[in-house]
Amino acid sequence: MSGAAAWGEASPSVDESADCEAAFDEAGLFGGRYAVEEPGPLPPVVPPPLGNGAARERLCQQLDADRLHPCLLFVGPQGLGKRQLARWLAMRRNCDEPGAPCGACWSCRQIQAGQHPDIIELEPDPEKAVPIISVAQARALSAQLSLHRAHARTRFVIIDEADRLTVEAANALLLTLEEPPDGTMFILVSARPAALLSTVRSRCLRVRLGPVPNGELEAWLASRELPEAAWLAVMAEGCPGRALSLAQGGAERWREVRDLFIGEVATEIWRFFALAERLGKAEKADKARLAGDQALALDALERLLQDVLAHHAGRPLRYNADRAALVAAWAGALHAEGVAALANELDKSRQMLAEHVNGRLVFDALIVRIAAELGPARRAGAPFAAPAG
Ligand SMILES: [Zn+2]
Repeated sequence: MSGAAAWGEASPSVDESADCEAAFDEAGLFGGRYAVEEPGPLPPVVPPPLGNGAARERLCQQLDADRLHPCLLFVGPQGLGKRQLARWLAMRRNCDEPGAPCGACWSCRQIQAGQHPDIIELEPDPEKAVPIISVAQARALSAQLSLHRAHARTRFVIIDEADRLTVEAANALLLTLEEPPDGTMFILVSARPAALLSTVRSRCLRVRLGPVPNGELEAWLASRELPEAAWLAVMAEGCPGRALSLAQGGAERWREVRDLFIGEVATEIWRFFALAERLGKAEKADKARLAGDQALALDALERLLQDVLAHHAGRPLRYNADRAALVAAWAGALHAEGVAALANELDKSRQMLAEHVNGRLVFDALIVRIAAELGPARRAGAPFAAPAG
């Protein structure tokens, strides 16, 4: 970076001093007055998160012109990279190098490491059983904001999963959101903006961020030499974060839970209930894992239903091409009404889990419903379980 830094330092000095200009002229170093080439802005060295190029461009332009609303609400699906975009903007804004964000200067490095004193990130407390951003966190933030900013041109406050702000916490922040301190920008991030207090929403400019187009995501995954890039892209539904977590062991786990929940268990009802018991048990030690498995099981069922519809329509399977026989067996037992009934039950299950209804109850009810829908065909010996592996 030393060459780039020198370029950045040298150019203003040409304008600063008339003597200097004359000296340059006499020497004819530049072949005449002001022959110094005006380079355009260099592309960023640290690439922005994937997708949403137009929205990002607009944000950059307004930020550069100091015309950006000081409270933004980034809205978009989980795993899209909303928080990364907020961080990237903070880096770009506070980087003085050509090709900002350069990723190499002090400011860029501190932000990347999450240690910049003026780039404050708030998220739900992971220690809490129910993840919330508490009033204590909000008050600590206010106290921090009452101090002058230390280094940054613009201080950023990034609140991830802002919908987890408790009512008290949100109320504690309202005044600050109404009138942020000078040179301070708020970026709230949420995949569930409807869960935010309307008083918070109304103080923010909403920036809608959409999923990354499938082809773009697939190309990006392929460029990282990840196996199954096409399948990962489809599974991730436009969210690079989801694709990466699938690539890092998530896919294996998804298939494991899918095969357990949907494959094997459909042939022998007692195994079904044994699994329901496992999925429903809230052992404190692995609560997060359990919640993850519950979500995976519901996700697997949802995608199986979508593939059943694809099978009915004669379209290629999107998610479970590796279990074509299983999908065919379900498709043989479930007509459109059956699929709709299970999809409905699935929504109810998600809703109940979100409301912290006992997992065992939720899965028992779901499994009874699945057994009822598949019942006649299952008793006729249809092969619901494809051979594993
Ligand atoms: Zn930099």
